[in-house]
Amino acid sequence: MRIFISADMEGATGVVQWEQVDKPERDYAFGRRMQIHDVKAVIDGALSAGADEIIVNDSHDYMINIPADELSFDSRVRLLSGASKKLSMVEGLKGADAAFFVAYHAKAGTERAILDHTMNSSSIFSVVLNGREVGETGLNAAVCAVEKVPVALVTGDAAVCSEARGLLGDGLVTACVKVAHSRTAADCMLPENSGRILREAAALAVERARTGTASIMEIGDGTFDLRITFQNSSQCDSAERIPGTERVDGRTIRVIGGDMTAMIRWVLTLS
Ligand SMILES: [Zn+2]
Repeated sequence: MRIFISADMEGATGVVQWEQVDKPERDYAFGRRMQIHDVKAVIDGALSAGADEIIVNDSHDYMINIPADELSFDSRVRLLSGASKKLSMVEGLKGADAAFFVAYHAKAGTERAILDHTMNSSSIFSVVLNGREVGETGLNAAVCAVEKVPVALVTGDAAVCSEARGLLGDGLVTACVKVAHSRTAADCMLPENSGRILREAAALAVERARTGTASIMEIGDGTFDLRITFQNSSQCDSAERIPGTERVDGRTIRVIGGDMTAMIRWVLTLS
């Protein structure tokens, strides 16, 4: 069984502020350490439950947060490192039996959610896909759905776990490692405890993937209507110059198509 792991950082154990996830900042070393901690725990759980191939896609910012030597403890693990990647956070997904979204964060505008945003917090106010507001979890889960890959596990704070269950239903396993009190403060599980929970959740997720009870997001008939609302109208002025976009209002652009991988590329391009 091949497991694809998309590894972000904002939802990692103990991470609560931008300084901990931004490469030039001193506290980035902590965020990186915690992302690696959570990814390793999930890998450990997946391997113990019988996964025989794991692809980790480093999905945060410059996408070189996880050094290859950190994952060299098991030859069944591969690392997709660096940017840019055409499908960004879900690059390398094709052919996987299940996807795990690790250390994810809630969509832009979520109340009490650590570092909530969607792709780019300075440009994107909201993203609506086929009438439903989505964040990175929803966008990436939609690509997984097109590839017929179930999303079996989402880890992060309570807000992203709740958002993911709303999109993916009961087949999804979630592992909550912190409960936000605000956008930049949370009641955090200590790594020793979160590591145990992440391992158990990953093992259960592999089991659900094996038994065919993991979730695939409902995406309708394969026609995609994507609406991106920007933070301000001048960002929308720039976006409407791109052929194929349609201006909806002062801050919103719409793109329609039948290819979800193209939709995620639109979000990446427009953000
Ligand atoms: Zn990130």
